[in-house]
Amino acid sequence: MERIFNFSAGPSMLPVEVLETAAREMLNWHGTGMGIIEMSHRSKPFDSMHNKTIADLKELLHIPDNFKILMMHGGGTLQFACVALNLLGDKTKANYLITGAWSEKAAQEGAKYCTVNTVATGKTSNFTTVPDPATWNVDPEGAYFHYCANETIHGLEFDLTEEMLAKIGDLPIVADMSSNFLSKTIDFTKHAVVYAGAQKNAGPAGVAFVIVREDLLGKSLKIIPSLMDWKTTADNNSLYNTPPCFPIYMCGLYFDYMRRNGGLEAFIEIARQKSTLLYNTFAESNGYYTNPVNENFRSKMNVPFLIKGGNEAIEKKFLNEAEKVGLSTLAGHRSVGGLRASIYNGMPMEGVVKLVEFMKAFQTNNP
Ligand code: PLP
Repeated sequence: MERIFNFSAGPSMLPVEVLETAAREMLNWHGTGMGIIEMSHRSKPFDSMHNKTIADLKELLHIPDNFKILMMHGGGTLQFACVALNLLGDKTKANYLITGAWSEKAAQEGAKYCTVNTVATGKTSNFTTVPDPATWNVDPEGAYFHYCANETIHGLEFDLTEEMLAKIGDLPIVADMSSNFLSKTIDFTKHAVVYAGAQKNAGPAGVAFVIVREDLLGKSLKIIPSLMDWKTTADNNSLYNTPPCFPIYMCGLYFDYMRRNGGLEAFIEIARQKSTLLYNTFAESNGYYTNPVNENFRSKMNVPFLIKGGNEAIEKKFLNEAEKVGLSTLAGHRSVGGLRASIYNGMPMEGVVKLVEFMKAFQTNNP
């Protein structure tokens, strides 16, 4: 059977070369006579793979030496709690900007450990825009400022502007980049912590990457489980217990692939081209396809859209017909409906071209 184009919001497509390498190496990794997932995580071969994965990520994202790169269990969600448990110190409050479902979830989890100050919320706009920084209410007594750089469900992505940074002041800035990790450069002079689950742009689910400025380590609350403690993780090079060996290995293959294919900069350009093609198709459809998000904040990774303003019968027909031609998993998140094309790094340009051609033909056939 031919491979299809999978537009899922995650887990998502991986490059064929990465999958083929993994399949080939599964029985015998680099002449060791066994697969990497059968190997002790304390062994030399495993260690070399583990350290190369970290080194390649550092190179790809140009991560400065004063940041630690951690690979942790529990996906992006466990980091919602880790952020609070590692950063609160003797503070009792933290700042959360709410721009969609994921930042909302992060704040709800944070609220188990501290008083959450909602800096601003985009809820009144149905999360189609980032609240104007002039309206932000940042509490300088909070331990940190948390935001989600790409709202996977609402398709809203943004960078912190100078005006936003002025509002945040000296607070450590924490970014959830689960769904736009490795699709853009990260300014580490502005961020204190960046975290991301792997299963969109980095590999399979089961590992989360945490990139944390060294001086923030060692402030965790006493009650923190050891496995959630960033310092314990850093001190043990992410090998405090048996790590998620398979996802780490797969991410390592993906990072190596990215390095050999033009590095981050090449993937940024492809993401720009793919998302432009899709958004242009909406613009040229005379309102047949629409994306509700403010043009300044449209995501390059997750592109939600409606047909005829949200005609469910036609959208259902679209999904059925798309599935038949190998354009899969285009339904919107159950909480917002409509359609959504997630176009992470693993989605080739070819897939987006095929989608756009299908969309145009569908519009002609279903006016
Ligand atoms: N943050 C964002 C922006 C996400 O999109 C997701 C999952 O889709 C998560 C956090 C949660 O990640 P995980 O499923 O790895 O816990």
